[in-house]
Order: sequence, then structure tokens, then C-alpha cells
Amino acid sequence: MTTTTAAPSTPKLSWVSALYIGGLHVAALLALYHGYFSWSGLALCLFLHWLTGGIGICLIYHRLLTHRSFTFRPKWIEYPMTMLGCMASEGGPLGWVSDHRRHHAHSDDENDVHTPSEGFFWAHMGWFLFVEDSSHHTPEYFQRWCPDLVKDPVHRFIEKTFILYPLALFAGLYLAGQWYGNLGMSWLVWGGFVRTIFVWHTTWLVNSATHLWGYRSHETRDDSTNLWWVAALTYGEGWHNNHHAFQTSARHGLSWWEVDPTYILIWTMQKVGLVYNIKLAKVRKAAAPASSLVSAATASVTPSGPRLLEEAV
Ligand SMILES: [Zn+2]
Ligand SMILES: [Zn+2]
Repeated sequence: MTTTTAAPSTPKLSWVSALYIGGLHVAALLALYHGYFSWSGLALCLFLHWLTGGIGICLIYHRLLTHRSFTFRPKWIEYPMTMLGCMASEGGPLGWVSDHRRHHAHSDDENDVHTPSEGFFWAHMGWFLFVEDSSHHTPEYFQRWCPDLVKDPVHRFIEKTFILYPLALFAGLYLAGQWYGNLGMSWLVWGGFVRTIFVWHTTWLVNSATHLWGYRSHETRDDSTNLWWVAALTYGEGWHNNHHAFQTSARHGLSWWEVDPTYILIWTMQKVGLVYNIKLAKVRKAAAPASSLVSAATASVTPSGPRLLEEAV
């Protein structure tokens, strides 16, 4: 994208975000009470971290809605999957996608919504708590950054109702836990509160840690890095320098040791016919002879097979 954004203003505290984020951090402290611990609650915490963070945020909000690196067959599957993203309590799809596309358009410059050049805390969670005038989620902001989603009435509906999905999950966890064996508070605290904090801080590490620490495989115009422990916590999203170099690639782990569980899932879904139109990075090796490079044109001949792509960095 080549659009520019007005110079950022002094950020103002978003009371709604602060109360929600602060409130859930305090509520998660209930996990320190041993009476609320259960092994089933811990299992739910880990499973829902994957379902709402790994599937909801990394697979759906990021690789599907922001970058359209693959397509569901049939397409409507993306709507209930988007609701899983809402359950991570990181806002609705239009807001998340707009902020992230702006991050790519202005990576680590003064109009980046979350660059660690303004400090680790700002990149990690400060930008979520303190909002600049240019970052408010207005209809104009959405029209500028995600006109494709604005056109979709279902995604507009999900955006307007996004807070209902995590609240419904909290209520469902409590009721199901009570029904299962008087474990309502345990499932709510571990599967709801602790899991949400866990999803927040692991996905936020992609904005903070992987623009600060790690190695760079590609010369991009930002400070993005590849960092194994963030990749481990975010199902492959920590191969972030690769991602900035090849933004629409469904696969972020590009070397054999860069394990990318989210791409493995996309690949598996393609094998069973659930997705198609997968876009993949074509990594150009400087010393390689031209004949060893696969032509993007010939790699695109099968409509349902992976498509290779190159991006200027
Ligand atoms: Zn980034
Ligand atoms: Zn991205």
C-alpha cells in the first residue's frame, strides 16, 4: 500500500480497553487460588489458546483475512472461524485487519501503529491501551484499510458484535463446568481469564519481540526478525522477518528448521479439500542459477494447488 497517514497525535487512554484488559489481568489472578485449579481447566486453557489464538488470530485474522493467503471452500466457512478470532478479545475483524495492514504499510516508521522504536511496552500493549487520533476505528479508517471487508455484510455484523463472542465463551465455560462437575469457576478462570491473558501476551510478542530480537533472513525495510521461541508460542507467527519479506505467503517458516504449525494446518486442509488458492513464497537465492528457480507462471497452472509468489522487499 502506498497511502500515507497523518502524523500521529498524543495517544489518549482508551478507558474501555484499559478496564477490559486490566480487569481480565486482575481476574486471572484468581488462578493463584488452588481451589480453582483443575487438570481439565488447564487442558481447556491450552486447547482454547490454540483455538482462539492459533486458529482465530494467527490463521483467520492474520493469514486469511489480512493477507488472503488461501481461500476456504466453501467461502462461508470463514465467518464462523472469524468468530473464533473475536473470542481472543483482540477486537473485531475489521479493526484487527486495518491495524495490521497499516503496520505492514508503515512498518517501523512514525505511522506504524505498534513499533518498538517507541519502546517495548508501546509495541507490546501500549498501543492497545492508548489510542492516537489517527488510529480510531472509524468507518473512514475501515474504508481506507479494509474496503474488502467493509463490503461484506457478515464481516460488518461480526465487527459490530465482536464483544459478544468472548463474553458468550466465558458464560459457556462456567455453565459447562458446573454441569460437568461443579468446576464452573475453574473452567472460567483457566479456560477464560488465564487463557485470554496467555493469548494476548503471546500474540503481542509478534509486534514487540520479533521487531527487536532474533535473526534476519531477508533485507526488509523494517526491523522484523525471526525468533524461534515466539514462533513456538504463536504457531509459526514468530518467523516474522520471513513474513514481512513475503507478506501474502501462507507459509511463514521458510527453512526446514522453521517449524510452522499454522502452515502445516493450511496444507492439511488443502489435502482434504477444505482450502485452495494457497499462496507461497518463492525465495530467490542470490547464488542459485536461474534454472534452479521454479517459475511462478508454471507453478500456478493447477488452480487448486499452491501458487508461488515473489514480493519486492
Ligand atoms: Zn511486523
Ligand atoms: Zn502480516
